[in-house]
Amino acid sequence: MNTDEGIGSQSDMSSVICGSTRSSSVAVEDSEASSASEVLHDCQVHGHQLLYLNYKGLTKFPAQLLQENAYQHIKGIYLKRNLLQTLPTNLKTLTNLKELYLPSNKIIDLPDDMSELTQLESLDLSMNSLQHIPSCVFGIKSLKSLILSQNSIAHLSSEIGKMRALMTLVLNHNLLTSLPSEIQHCSSLETLNLDKNFLKVLPRQITLLHRLEELSVTGNKLVYLPMDLGYCPSLQKVYADNNPYLKAIPFSLWSKTVGTYSCGTETICDSGLYAEFKEANMSAYIPHEIQSIRSKNSSPVSTLLEISYRYVNKQQGILKIESLPRSVREQAVTATAHCEFHGCSRQLFTGCYPHLLKHPITTLQQPNSTTFIGLCCSLKCLDLFSRFPLPL
Ligand SMILES: [Zn+2]
Repeated sequence: MNTDEGIGSQSDMSSVICGSTRSSSVAVEDSEASSASEVLHDCQVHGHQLLYLNYKGLTKFPAQLLQENAYQHIKGIYLKRNLLQTLPTNLKTLTNLKELYLPSNKIIDLPDDMSELTQLESLDLSMNSLQHIPSCVFGIKSLKSLILSQNSIAHLSSEIGKMRALMTLVLNHNLLTSLPSEIQHCSSLETLNLDKNFLKVLPRQITLLHRLEELSVTGNKLVYLPMDLGYCPSLQKVYADNNPYLKAIPFSLWSKTVGTYSCGTETICDSGLYAEFKEANMSAYIPHEIQSIRSKNSSPVSTLLEISYRYVNKQQGILKIESLPRSVREQAVTATAHCEFHGCSRQLFTGCYPHLLKHPITTLQQPNSTTFIGLCCSLKCLDLFSRFPLPL
């Protein structure tokens, strides 16, 4: 995704709300030749709905925008490449503001009352100096697009789950090492970009995002992907290129567009964290939740833990599930995987039999075909899955 120029978002916006007779690109060029006060004057006199203040060297947000009622009609403010460190309070007086475009400033925080911008749909804070996401952002209930590329954000708050209208979340080039499971509550999310971070795993609750169409996680430290990822009903594209420790992708993704260029080139030595499974010179890391991997020769008896999780999952409507410890609750409510043998689909929590294969279809498309990993609930299912690996 190209967020650098924001051309897409500007033209999308202008086609909807541009009050000027000129095209938005012309307006940008024109505004660059004028001073900020000339642009503001023009906006007031002509009633422009989009205010272009890119490349003005501004160290402060123009105070007059909030002091005079003459600017309440404004729907979009573009402030790319200025020197802003924050925004003023009372931005909410701009009651019609839908888009705020602030790439390449020096923003470190935002005022709390920004959460009262009840019309704001698009916020671009890429290429700033954020070390965290300002808490007000999570309170903007109307926000559909949040762009936070190229900051220094090391933590994504569980409050992200409050953003039920969010359709696009872009966090590429940050310092994230994990994601909160609450991201599952972003029920409108269609596009999630997490490229170039330091993620080792994704929460499996991500598989509950029913509208997710595109997931991009290139250039991370991922060891495996959530096994049920391919069962996201809207998911079409998964870009997982350049994850050197990612040796196999879930079988559930077999029919999706999946990018795995330069994956699996390195091996993690720390076997204490991730079990390694080898078969026909292929290897993969099994999710660490799955603790009882057994060889074909060992007893097919499920562990007590697995049985417990299955029971809690089945009875969750009756049990007081909120009273369970968070880790147990999350494990029991969302299965780690489903048995991959077609016709079985039993939920798996801690026990499984892994099967690795090179998918024949991807072998046709590229010589170094992607290795898939499928998990089965029993030796019987594993045997059938090995003989009939493609879904019927
Ligand atoms: Zn099965």
